[in-house]
Amino acid sequence: MLHHERLKPPPRDYPADEWNIIEKAFNPDFLAQLESMLALGNGYLGMRGCPEEGGPAAENSTLINGFYETWPIVYGEEAYGFAKAGQTICNVTDSKIIKLFVDDEPFWLANANLLKYDRRLNMKSGTLDREIIWETPAGKQVLIRSRRLVSFDSRHAAAIHYSVTLLNATASIVISSEMAAENPSAPINADDPRLAKALSDRTLHPRANYSAGRRVVLCHETQKSRLTVSCAIDHALGTSSRHTCKTSHAEDFGQVAFAIEAQPGSPIQLTKYMIYHTSQTASAEELCGRAEWSIDRVMAQGFQQLLTAQEQYMDDFWRRSDVQVRDVQEDRTKRTTVEIQQAIRFNLFHMLQASARAEDAGVPAKGLTGRAYEGHYFWDTEIYLLPFLTYTSPRIAKNLLTFRHKMLPQARERARQLGHRGAMFPWRTISGEEASAYYAAGTAQYHINADIMYALRKYVQATGDELFMRTCGAEMLVETARLWLDLGFYSDEKGGKFCINGVTGPDEYNAVVNNNAYTNLMARENLRYAAETVESLLAEQADAYEMLVHKTALEPSEAQTWLRAAESMYVPYDEKRQIIPQDDSFLDREAWDFQNTPPERYPLLLFYHPLNIYRKQVIKQADVMLAMFLLGDAFLPEVKKRNFEFYDPLTTGDSSLSSCVEAIIAAQIGNMDKAIRYGMAALLMDLADVGGNVKDGCHIASMGGTWMMLAYGFGGMRDNDGILSFWPRRAPEENAILQFHVTYRGQRLGVQIGLEKVEYALCEGECLLIRHETEEVKLTREKPVVLRPVGRR
Ligand code: BGC
Repeated sequence: MLHHERLKPPPRDYPADEWNIIEKAFNPDFLAQLESMLALGNGYLGMRGCPEEGGPAAENSTLINGFYETWPIVYGEEAYGFAKAGQTICNVTDSKIIKLFVDDEPFWLANANLLKYDRRLNMKSGTLDREIIWETPAGKQVLIRSRRLVSFDSRHAAAIHYSVTLLNATASIVISSEMAAENPSAPINADDPRLAKALSDRTLHPRANYSAGRRVVLCHETQKSRLTVSCAIDHALGTSSRHTCKTSHAEDFGQVAFAIEAQPGSPIQLTKYMIYHTSQTASAEELCGRAEWSIDRVMAQGFQQLLTAQEQYMDDFWRRSDVQVRDVQEDRTKRTTVEIQQAIRFNLFHMLQASARAEDAGVPAKGLTGRAYEGHYFWDTEIYLLPFLTYTSPRIAKNLLTFRHKMLPQARERARQLGHRGAMFPWRTISGEEASAYYAAGTAQYHINADIMYALRKYVQATGDELFMRTCGAEMLVETARLWLDLGFYSDEKGGKFCINGVTGPDEYNAVVNNNAYTNLMARENLRYAAETVESLLAEQADAYEMLVHKTALEPSEAQTWLRAAESMYVPYDEKRQIIPQDDSFLDREAWDFQNTPPERYPLLLFYHPLNIYRKQVIKQADVMLAMFLLGDAFLPEVKKRNFEFYDPLTTGDSSLSSCVEAIIAAQIGNMDKAIRYGMAALLMDLADVGGNVKDGCHIASMGGTWMMLAYGFGGMRDNDGILSFWPRRAPEENAILQFHVTYRGQRLGVQIGLEKVEYALCEGECLLIRHETEEVKLTREKPVVLRPVGRR
């Protein structure tokens, strides 16, 4: 049974709402899922969606992107070149705890009598809002409102506005604002390789702690990776009632407790400010000082200012990045349309949260919504997330590519270790060093090198950022081209073609194979692009070329050798079936017995030894289909159709990276039924917990895939030949309009796809040339251009 057939309804009944994910009742069975879904983050700092009280929680993580501990990987049997050090993102000080006591009764969701409960991820304001009415055992009714944000504008800052109002009585209340370090990792299911390793020893070692007034500062350091984190909290209390305040601190704990004589109807307002700073080099003293400067600044601004900045940031984001699905008749909005809109925004919002301030860092597979995949960066960033960022927030895309460039020294060293020329980027990493302990589905995925270069090309094409190409891009191109040239060889057996053996493609269910078609096709692009770039620098920008020669010791003859390998690249083809075989041995494998694989034995990786999987014809995730999407122009629609029909039944979708790609190809070949079914699986991957593991974090790559599916699949966008073109299909919902924006070369284009017509509007910029199907269209700010979709191909 394939993944879209396993699509379940959402685990909770979330009311349809275009801008909010709303939890209407507290349900302890869905703690973990909601922690991921309602997590807040800004790409630097992330807080899972746990209640203010600090519990009940499944895993109450506060995470900082790139803040990790290392540990020696112990292999039963060692071999040369295996990754040596594991890297695991670790929980930092949890600073968001606010406990409430009314007449000494603690407020604790699990046993509270709740007269009202409403918690919502507010995607318009970028906040997590909660409103509760609690009736204490003594019958006192307490209105508790809170609003939490992790600031996009001030990347080190988070804040909570917390208010308590007694509704029907007076009471003595205590609001205890706390911070706690060394939040132990939750027990981990050791059988699921996708989860993070439990860091059993103490990971955060105390380095400094002090308090002054209503402020507490704690500082910790990891033992092996030697990263330091300082965390400061401070408070502003607004109340007309009598109160006292007591502050205390210890190595791993800080507390500011307010005791208040609360009067009915008179709200008590507490604003809590939280700051994090991290460093590889700064001393504890210095880092505490930085936290204090930051907290002074945000407190001087106040919560309202933080909130206004957050809302402005969100407005700006939605203006550039929103994708809308609207009913044709504006007055009759169907529930399903609202649900689709909600899911789309949920995905876009989480992508922003995962990447916005990831400066000098990558984007972990789960963003900062959970610790699964150890906070590691994979190809997910370049192939799944960067298209969205390149076309909506190019500055963030550039940050991420710059971060890859900074990894070059380690990538060169890794290539050297494996006996290769050039540079070899790690399959999974935080520090830049390879952290994948299972080489067959890790290090062997050489394709990541071509994936990064593919994303570079899209970025440079869409932005025209030649400066980035000169300063960073060209160097990465030279080194990755060298890697491919070194890795492959001209094979007599294959008629002198350039072959690449012993690699794993995107599909991790077929490991260490020869001539994985995806890898060869993408390597070909990489080689060509490197040669083109070097030659154009030589011809047009002598200084930049000299600099490149200086950085890479480039020889004049190298570009020709790359071109020759590219032009001789072996791309497998099966005459009989007229398809591209996934690799040299794929067609020769025994069929997987899908009939007798019950739904509960998916994902296969949790129930079958890798060898059982590797020798069968079964696919974890789109592989040939992905190449056909990424290199779309190279394949005719009928070729895509034949390949889709062959591979689709063999693809389990056990990786969340699959459905979106299958949806795109299905849309491109006009199989709208499948496009919608796969599309919904991708769109609801987290909201409907399609993979059953949203508890461990949101699937950021699949979220990126949903944008690609809407823009490239349903919107028919193409960007392969240096001009933006559209072969619009339709909205993913009957009788609906699909609208999205793309930023291209600093100009912003709005595309609106209706039933009978397509409208292109230049919203920012002066003049943009695009293509609608085969027709060239010149857009200006004067008025939108309205055209009929003829081809619908
Ligand atoms: C997928 C990889 C992906 C990783 C992290 C794996 O299950 O097979 O393609 O990079 O998850 O998302």
